[in-house]
Amino acid sequence: MDREQIWRLAEEQRAYTIAARRHIHRNPELSFQEHETAAFIAERLREMGYEPRTGIGASGTGITAELAGGRPGPTIALRADIDALPVEETSDLEYRSARPGVMHACGHDGHTAMLLGTARAMATARALIPGRVVFLFQHAEEMVPGGALDLIAAGALDGVDAVFGLHQSAQLDVGQMSFGPGPRQASTDGFSLTVLGRGGHGAMPDTTVDAVQIGAQLVTALHQIVSRRVSPLEPAVITIGTFHAGTKENIVAHEATLTATVRTLDPALRDRIPLEVEAVARGVTSAWGADYKLDYRRGYPVLVNDAEMAGVARRAAEAVLELGAVFTQSRPIMPAEDFAYYLQQVPGCFGSIGVGTPGTTQRGAGHSGAFLLDDAALPTGVAYYLSLVTNFEALRARTGDSA
Ligand SMILES: [Zn+2]
Ligand SMILES: [Zn+2]
Repeated sequence: MDREQIWRLAEEQRAYTIAARRHIHRNPELSFQEHETAAFIAERLREMGYEPRTGIGASGTGITAELAGGRPGPTIALRADIDALPVEETSDLEYRSARPGVMHACGHDGHTAMLLGTARAMATARALIPGRVVFLFQHAEEMVPGGALDLIAAGALDGVDAVFGLHQSAQLDVGQMSFGPGPRQASTDGFSLTVLGRGGHGAMPDTTVDAVQIGAQLVTALHQIVSRRVSPLEPAVITIGTFHAGTKENIVAHEATLTATVRTLDPALRDRIPLEVEAVARGVTSAWGADYKLDYRRGYPVLVNDAEMAGVARRAAEAVLELGAVFTQSRPIMPAEDFAYYLQQVPGCFGSIGVGTPGTTQRGAGHSGAFLLDDAALPTGVAYYLSLVTNFEALRARTGDSA
């Protein structure tokens, strides 16, 4: 499909996507509770002629739909997340959130509307669509364990050759996009470490095993894992966010609990850090005659874009956007994304789409009540997905210049 054809189809969906987005924005739902949102999406898909699969996951709020194209080709999955956040919206937009304390502050309303618009455009141009397209409307991106694993468990990626998705970026203008190969977003793990000492009188410390003193040494030692045990060329964060112990100044605490978040950008390093934490916990506590309990929790994995697919994605965007509007992401970011799970199964690329109003400088941050998504961006997302799917094989063949 050429640029003109793609934009004609995308523009046909402009009013539809904006109306859908505003409806979803007005009616946000929290992770694993997206029942009305899921029903809205399923109903729209049925109107377009799809037979969506609904009720995926324990919450029953995941949805997939499939389009069989009119000519042979690969199977490509496109994903939008559909959940909102526990944030109070501060704007006075006429379609502002009607639900106190809940808001689409991460732009998932926009992601969903773009994918609905794409599904609708493709349904009208089915004869021109190669292969098979799988639409993933995924619940609960914002809450570990996330909804991606539910969709995968339901077989949503069976037979899929490549997977793509977009996240809004308020740093980019409407009409701009960016893509990058390799690790793009951090893994997000964490742990709770409890020192098990022996309490007693503060005036007789030698008869006790002081959990505060041992906990304090652990704070220092655990932070030093990054500076002494991890290569300076590999990004990693260990932050001890809480330290709770003790009841009174003259009582030696028998227990201290530290909690931490751990971020990495390398899957191998991600697997190694729990071993380092365990070694420090064992060593420091045993030196002082204490015991410990370590509860290490894994959240989302590192999001790793396939290098070839990042190139395909970038070229798909370049084919439909203005010259100079497609950027290569120079740096990964530390927030996590459960799109990472799809990329562990099949190659693909997660990119960014600009939603900032050109000419503005004050842009509310994502996850804040002031977040704004300019829905003039929605046709750009539709055009990108059309470009990607209809020209996938040709874009893929154009190797040499990678992302
Ligand atoms: Zn978010
Ligand atoms: Zn998000």
